[in-house]
Amino acid sequence: MVNVLYDKAITCPVCKNIFHTKKVRTSATRIEKRDTDFCTHYIGENPILYNVFVCPMCGYAALESGFEEINAAGKKMIQESISRRWTQRSFGEERTILEAIETYKLALLCSQILGHKKGTLANICLRIAWLYRYLSHEKEFEFLTHAVNCFEQAFANEPMPIGNLDDVSLTYLIGELHRMIGHYEEAVEWFGKAVSNPAIKTKKKIDTMAREQWRLAKDAYRKKSSHDQVG
Ligand SMILES: [Zn+2]
Repeated sequence: MVNVLYDKAITCPVCKNIFHTKKVRTSATRIEKRDTDFCTHYIGENPILYNVFVCPMCGYAALESGFEEINAAGKKMIQESISRRWTQRSFGEERTILEAIETYKLALLCSQILGHKKGTLANICLRIAWLYRYLSHEKEFEFLTHAVNCFEQAFANEPMPIGNLDDVSLTYLIGELHRMIGHYEEAVEWFGKAVSNPAIKTKKKIDTMAREQWRLAKDAYRKKSSHDQVG
């Protein structure tokens, strides 16, 4: 069998330690399906499990895409808040979903310490929610809630794109996350905003999804309101 995972050598920008972390060969990833909040399900190895790099020596953790982006002040903050309490531990082997959740929680902690943008925190929280979803664990909803709160703040205050999300995709996603956690009124509002954005015409798939999920949210909202009145 071809080895789907390979080792990548990383130099930690905080402590200069060189360590290895696993990556999934792109050619080996096979998508099974995508959920309405863009969560991808894979057949075989899931690359999402390996998107956080963790330095085993100092405990600095971040998404691969932002791992190098840390300045001198940030390094000092990590050394003082994380490294001092860190017991050496490697996440450089094959990861279970629970181990992957630990790496994302470490990345979330480092991001908070470093004062990263809300968009970054939102993307980390969304991935933690997905990992819990793979396990059918109820904590998924706690992290969907954190994610939508951070995405809303990012939408209001930060330049687009947020991660790989443009304006329309993010508007849709905020609506869908609200729907998933039962905030139907907010969901209806955000889907309405998405479909009335002229840019959605260039994104056929998002357009279709937004209209479909909008309808579901409206139905759920109506049911909930009539139920609340009866109750
Ligand atoms: Zn380090």
